[in-house]
Amino acid sequence: MEKEREYILGYGVDLLTKNEGLDFVSERIIENEGAQIATINPEMIAMGEKDEKLGEILRNADLIIPDGFGIKLALRIRGIKQEQVPGIEFARELINICAENGYSVGFVGAHEEVVNRAVENIKKQTPNLNVVYKHNGYFDNEDAIIEAILEASPRVLLVAMGVPRQEFFIDKIKSKKDDIIVIGVGGSFDVWSGFTKRAPVIWQKLGLEWLYRTIKQPERFKRIFPTLPLFLFKVIIETIQLEKDY
Ligand code: UDP
Repeated sequence: MEKEREYILGYGVDLLTKNEGLDFVSERIIENEGAQIATINPEMIAMGEKDEKLGEILRNADLIIPDGFGIKLALRIRGIKQEQVPGIEFARELINICAENGYSVGFVGAHEEVVNRAVENIKKQTPNLNVVYKHNGYFDNEDAIIEAILEASPRVLLVAMGVPRQEFFIDKIKSKKDDIIVIGVGGSFDVWSGFTKRAPVIWQKLGLEWLYRTIKQPERFKRIFPTLPLFLFKVIIETIQLEKDY
């Protein structure tokens, strides 16, 4: 499947709807290919600018989902209307596709109780799901965990350890098994477990879930400030530059 990719500060963002993204992954699964999926937001780009290795991993992802509100704004500055695709929803629908088609799934990340409860809840909703691997995201024996994942060989692996840890982990897995589908899902297990609630639907619809979470957990403020305004400022400068060059 051909997809259109726009570059923001050197980072790719795929211009597609949730369903198009899911079709892309389904196609890869059917063709026995792997894919590294990232759900990108301005915080990640800011981290990637400071950490070369992280930046490289993010730039090399096969599918880069326009997750953050800041990404939607950045694309708007570029004159592109793009719907925001929340990574958590994308990943949940991917799990449904796995259940429907018998693709095995693995879950790594979050605290033990959280990952257990998340998988339990998902299994209640999709009893057919074949979960072949599950582990919390707090471990020191990374090589042994990777070994166990390779042994279990899930078709799709969901990694919820936050950025950048999950990206480094995904990169390691991919370097050992290229035909696996791996997606970094941040705090999704917390939500699926029921321990954390998503923002009310109206905030989700407005694309302001991040703002709701920041109001509820003010310690998150330092994540978006000054990152988000600085990011948008850089995007404006880059866009003016691009228009000049054109
Ligand atoms: N986490 C983990 N291992 C770690 C650090 C974090 O498994 O070493 C988990 C944490 O328990 C949480 C998730 O990673 O479930 C990240 O949550 P956060 O809200 O930070 O994610 P983001 O904001 O990046 O979506």
